[in-house]
Amino acid sequence: MKAFEYVKPATVAEAVRELGRSWEEAKILSGGTDLLGELKEGLISPQKIVNLKGIANLGYVRFSEKEGLKLGALTTLAEIESHPVIRQRYTALAEAAGSVATPQIRNIGTIGGNLCQRPRCWYYRDEHTRCLKKGGPICFAYNGENKYHAILGAGPCYIVHPSDCAPALIAFRATVSIVSPRGQRSVPLEEFFVLPARRLDHETILEPNEILTEIQVPTPPPNTRSTYLKFRERDSFDFAIVGAAVVARMRGDICEDIRIVLSGVAPIPWRSPEAEAVLKGKKITPDLAEQAAKAAVAKAQPLAQNAYKIPLTQAIVKQAVLKVAGQSK
Ligand SMILES: Cc1cc2nc3c(=O)[nH]c(=O)nc-3n(C[C@H](O)[C@H](O)[C@H](O)COP(=O)(O)OP(=O)(O)OC[C@H]3O[C@@H](n4cnc5c(N)ncnc54)[C@H](O)[C@@H]3O)c2cc1C
Repeated sequence: MKAFEYVKPATVAEAVRELGRSWEEAKILSGGTDLLGELKEGLISPQKIVNLKGIANLGYVRFSEKEGLKLGALTTLAEIESHPVIRQRYTALAEAAGSVATPQIRNIGTIGGNLCQRPRCWYYRDEHTRCLKKGGPICFAYNGENKYHAILGAGPCYIVHPSDCAPALIAFRATVSIVSPRGQRSVPLEEFFVLPARRLDHETILEPNEILTEIQVPTPPPNTRSTYLKFRERDSFDFAIVGAAVVARMRGDICEDIRIVLSGVAPIPWRSPEAEAVLKGKKITPDLAEQAAKAAVAKAQPLAQNAYKIPLTQAIVKQAVLKVAGQSK
């Protein structure tokens, strides 16, 4: 590992001043559960590490009916998973946070780091492979080992987005605050992530000198129910092969409004307006849930080894829809 300068600013204003204009100049450290891996594996070698954990007031959970939920970027996943208001009012988010990695990682890992973590594609994570994301000529997954790669929205790079919390937060219409030396901006989380067709070197709109500081989530309307279901190969801890966050406003059996956001299938958390349209305004039945599940993958373009994700996505969408409709556990 190359030597680097280490700073621990006490305020967000100081922290953004420490960041550089290029990614090589400085990297942000929160819990470090992803960043330290990248450093040790030789994927990044910044001149400086800016540790946000010295900033006293950046980890918090606040809720009011009027303003909704506010999460400071340094809030740990363990705090989110166990917070009574989040468990009750934002169930999908608590379930998503609780499905991340292991209890040890959830005790250290932050929500800011969870949203900004880098992809797990094995070609990207291999120090010696210069893939498209690292300025190389091709995406090796396209004709290579692509069992875990994207079936929707991909190309020219076929990564899948790794965060479990992002789909749940998007389903709840979350917004993020971003601070840079120029000031603060607010962006819907749905617009925070970018497809490889638009940006190859990074997966979000963040520039090198920007910090994600807060996540705001509106108060869910009455009769909102939600869930996050995740299929993984190893049940003890693993990233999603396929996951579905579903947030629905129900009136009895009738679905008045619904948002469905998938994980593990696309380079960004993948919202499915096609599946939502099948369900909105209708009485939810197993048949209708199945139609919605089919609509969610209608545009899928699997690679040689990942067509199995299509029936898996359908199964998980159907199960999640029936669960929010109160028709299964
Ligand atoms: C074994 C293992 C299993 C895992 N399993 C899962 C899983 O199942 N699901 C899942 O979602 N994740 C998983 N993770 C990924 C990740 O470690 C966690 O999601 C964790 O929440 C990341 O948070 P952190 O604070 O440790 O991030 P860090 O490692 O500190 O940072 C991650 C990235 O985000 C950037 N960053 C951090 N904070 C900010 C900020 N506030 N503003 C801008 N940029 C920022 C960093 O520069 C870095 O690039 C796993 C990790 C490991 C090692």
